[in-house]
Amino acid sequence: MSRVYNFSAGPATMPQWVLDRVRDELRDWGGTGMSVMEMSHRGEAFASIAAQAQSDLRELLGIPDHFKVLFLQGGATAQFALVPMNLLSQGVGADYVITGVWSEKALAEARRYGEVHVAADSRASRFTTIPAPEKWSLRPGSAYVHYTPNETIHGVEFHWIPEVGEVPLVADMSSTLLSRPLEVERFGLIYAGAQKNIGPAGLTLVIVREDLLGHAFPDTPTVFDYQVQADHDSMYNTPPTFAWYVAGLVFQWLREQGGLEAMAEANRRKAEKLYRTIDSSGFYRNPVDPGCRSWMNVPFVLKDPSLDVMFLKEAADAGLVGLKGHRSVGGMRASIYNAMPEAGVDALIDFMRDFENRHA
Ligand SMILES: *Cc1c(COP(=O)(O)O)cnc(C)c1O
Repeated sequence: MSRVYNFSAGPATMPQWVLDRVRDELRDWGGTGMSVMEMSHRGEAFASIAAQAQSDLRELLGIPDHFKVLFLQGGATAQFALVPMNLLSQGVGADYVITGVWSEKALAEARRYGEVHVAADSRASRFTTIPAPEKWSLRPGSAYVHYTPNETIHGVEFHWIPEVGEVPLVADMSSTLLSRPLEVERFGLIYAGAQKNIGPAGLTLVIVREDLLGHAFPDTPTVFDYQVQADHDSMYNTPPTFAWYVAGLVFQWLREQGGLEAMAEANRRKAEKLYRTIDSSGFYRNPVDPGCRSWMNVPFVLKDPSLDVMFLKEAADAGLVGLKGHRSVGGMRASIYNAMPEAGVDALIDFMRDFENRHA
């Protein structure tokens, strides 16, 4: 069977080049006579893979030296708890900006660990907008301000970084990290589950400013204390070695594509042409405020939802899969991460126009 265009929100499509490299190296990595998944994480071979991945990531994002990069497990959902467990002791609670389901989940988990304040909330717009920053009620003594730069389900993305003064800014970048250049130094902590735009599920990246380490609540599980993981180069216990290796190949691929400037240009172009197709039709609709539409996740509804099932079936027959919207919002969603080639977006647009012509 030939490969399909996979628009799944995550786990998501991977670059073909990465899959081919994994296949070529699967049984014998670098003349070691073994697969990466069979290697000791303490051995020389894996140490070189781990170090290369980290240095490529640092180079891509321009991560300053006073930030640590951690390669952890547990997904972004574990970070919903680990961020407050590691950071809350340094202030009077934390401020959360709520722009969709993922920030709501982060908030609910944080509430288990301390006093948490909603600084702004776009629920009234059914999460189709971002609350105006001048209306956010930020508290100067907070341990951190948390927000979700790309709400994967609603397709709402910040195209700017909030200004929060001296309080550390914490971001769940699960579905947007590496989609464009980033001013890492404006953040206190960035986290991301890998399975959207980074690599296989099982790996979670944390990029954290050094001065925020070492303040975990005493009952924090040792393996989830950022300081401990930083002191052990993310190998306090066995890390997700294979996912770490594959993410490293993605970083190499990104560098060969021209880095994050080139990705941003491609991502903007892919998103713009898809939104243009939606907006110029009376058949499809995207409800999100045009100023905060996501480059990564493009939700859309059909004017006649009774055609949804047929749309998904015919799309799948045309080799376009993973388009069903999240159950909480319905309709369709096309996730068009770095690894989705422009040809995939073009094929989707052609299919959408053809479907509209036949059913409008
Ligand atoms: C997918 C996603 C999550 C959940 O990630 P897990 O790895 O399944 O825990 C959290 N936040 C955002 C923004 C996501 O896209």
